[in-house]
Amino acid sequence: MIRFLFVLIFITNQVSALELKGNFEQGSLIIGKTNPSNEIYVDQKKLKVSKEGYFIFGISRDRKKNIIISINKDNKAREVIKVVKSRKFKVQKIDGLSKRKVSPNDEDMKRIRKEGKLIAKAKNVNSDLSFFFKDFIRPVDGITTGVFGSQRILNGKPRRPHYGIDIAAPKGTKIKNSNSGNVLLAANNLFFTGGTIIIEHGHGLISIYSHLEKIFVKKGDFVKKGELIATVGSTGRSTGPHLDFRLYCRNIPVDPDLVIKKN
Ligand SMILES: [Zn+2]
Repeated sequence: MIRFLFVLIFITNQVSALELKGNFEQGSLIIGKTNPSNEIYVDQKKLKVSKEGYFIFGISRDRKKNIIISINKDNKAREVIKVVKSRKFKVQKIDGLSKRKVSPNDEDMKRIRKEGKLIAKAKNVNSDLSFFFKDFIRPVDGITTGVFGSQRILNGKPRRPHYGIDIAAPKGTKIKNSNSGNVLLAANNLFFTGGTIIIEHGHGLISIYSHLEKIFVKKGDFVKKGELIATVGSTGRSTGPHLDFRLYCRNIPVDPDLVIKKN
């Protein structure tokens, strides 16, 4: 009888093994850890679990519904329900942008669509790299002039929310890679983002660096955390030298300020 009881507790523990890092609030990135043989579902979608047992998901800016995480092992399931805390986002007005960058012409639209496809392709990469659960560092020193989620009014016209953080720094300031990964895109002059680098860290977590002056990496490179990858510029749709830094988890933009390790 005692032996039987022990086995039962052991199985229950295996099913319920779950650790979650990150706040359940809009724009947050949640890193989970479980037994590597467990299956994890979030919003009924099965997530990749790394060989160490890590998995990851993002909470969108406008998420209101609770999040249901289910853990399955040998047909036994456990459900964890999490309430998502709402945030208040700022309204940010920016004037003095070139008219074409706010209301692009037909020619520009063709280019925007072509470049949009390249970026969308990168956002859909979902590799087995296992850097996604490691700490991210602030890529450049400077003052934060733009935050995640703010509603944008550009030259008086309402535009999509801002999903990056803007860090102002003098032109030519060195930018460090925030976390190790593979370079998916390194382009000199995209319409909105100018000089742009996209790096993937595994399980669909990617980082985007925009408005760059010089780029020192190319597509296919593996770059380590802290490595010099570019310099600050003001290319693309920008009013002054700054780095726009973004994180997307399988296409969901998350707030870099909630992810970057605080010193
Ligand atoms: Zn920005």
